[in-house]
Amino acid sequence: MKKNASLKKLHTFGLEVQAADYISVAHETELRKILPLPKNHLILGGGSNMLFTKDFEGLVIHNKIKGIEVVEENEEQVLVRVGGGEIWHELVLWAIEQNYAGLENLSLIPGSVGAAPIQNIGAYGAELKDVFDRLEAMNLETGVIETFGFEDCGFAYRESIFKGTLKGKYFITRVLLRLSKQATFNISYGAIQKVLEDTQSPLSIRSISNAVIQIRTQKLPDPKEIGNSGSFFKNPIVEIAVAKALQEKYPSIPVYPVNNDFNKLAAGWLIDQLGWKGYRKGDAGVHQHQALVLVNHGNATGEEIWALAKEIQASVQKEFGILLEPEVNIIA
Ligand SMILES: Cc1cc2nc3c(=O)[nH]c(=O)nc-3n(C[C@H](O)[C@H](O)[C@H](O)COP(=O)(O)OP(=O)(O)OC[C@H]3O[C@@H](n4cnc5c(N)ncnc54)[C@H](O)[C@@H]3O)c2cc1C
Repeated sequence: MKKNASLKKLHTFGLEVQAADYISVAHETELRKILPLPKNHLILGGGSNMLFTKDFEGLVIHNKIKGIEVVEENEEQVLVRVGGGEIWHELVLWAIEQNYAGLENLSLIPGSVGAAPIQNIGAYGAELKDVFDRLEAMNLETGVIETFGFEDCGFAYRESIFKGTLKGKYFITRVLLRLSKQATFNISYGAIQKVLEDTQSPLSIRSISNAVIQIRTQKLPDPKEIGNSGSFFKNPIVEIAVAKALQEKYPSIPVYPVNNDFNKLAAGWLIDQLGWKGYRKGDAGVHQHQALVLVNHGNATGEEIWALAKEIQASVQKEFGILLEPEVNIIA
């Protein structure tokens, strides 16, 4: 247990913040030993989806539970059980090395395996839920490890039950993923196809992963170079009638189908229309190429970044009547 521990290097916004108490846990038994937790606690993975608005007054528990094991296997599939403290991208690279398909489109997403189900991470036409089998999580009141199947998790776009009613109540210790031994490729996303064509790469899970890495490296700022948390807001899901009305007023607005009742809008487009791209106030700013990514140019405070996010939110609501919801977890 450390007191007044710096969190600067433990989260990707790189803010100068401290935790009153900090502990890392490498195994379920270590976690059980520190129960009951103080009311004010925070589980930390890679810190790539959180904005600290100030110092954290409670206990930060850093997930370091490791291990990758194949627990079931047949001719078509493997079931892999992974410690929540494993780094997501290292798991992806491991799966590619074994020739197990299913994770390649999710290459280079920062963070830990344990956090991946929390917001059902997704990118380039794939989501965690596509390969999810079940997870193990410790009930932080009882210390019992419970199993959550697919239906229990309430997965949706950047959502799960762990962001909703069960927020803060469970510590995800292990995640079980079903990967394919057959060559199945997801190249529905146009940009992947283009890179594969341009580089004349034969279709394989490795070439898809390389294409995704190339696209992401070009498009997204590296938190090691400039503090950020990826997309700050979620893409809004609106009723089709709302999307139609916006299309009449703004004919170039991108609109994506979701189902028979809802459409998805591009939050980045809405923000960009209002001229926020490249905006900077002190060291808090909007990335110069990505309107959806808020950045710390060096010495911003969490409060400054949150104030900027709220300004953006208000301006989008005023112009388009859409309330942008943060994708990043705001830690107050
Ligand atoms: C440059 C960049 C690009 C990104 N691109 C994408 C993308 O393409 N798609 C995408 O979906 N996301 C993306 N993200 C967001 C981020 O990578 C994911 O949300 C990731 O899953 C966060 O993992 P983490 O370990 O860093 O979580 P943290 O930030 O440490 O935690 C996030 C939340 O989950 C909780 N939590 C963490 N671990 C556990 C656990 N074991 N049990 C219970 N609760 C837990 C935390 O308390 C917190 O509320 C990006 C982020 C960055 C910085």
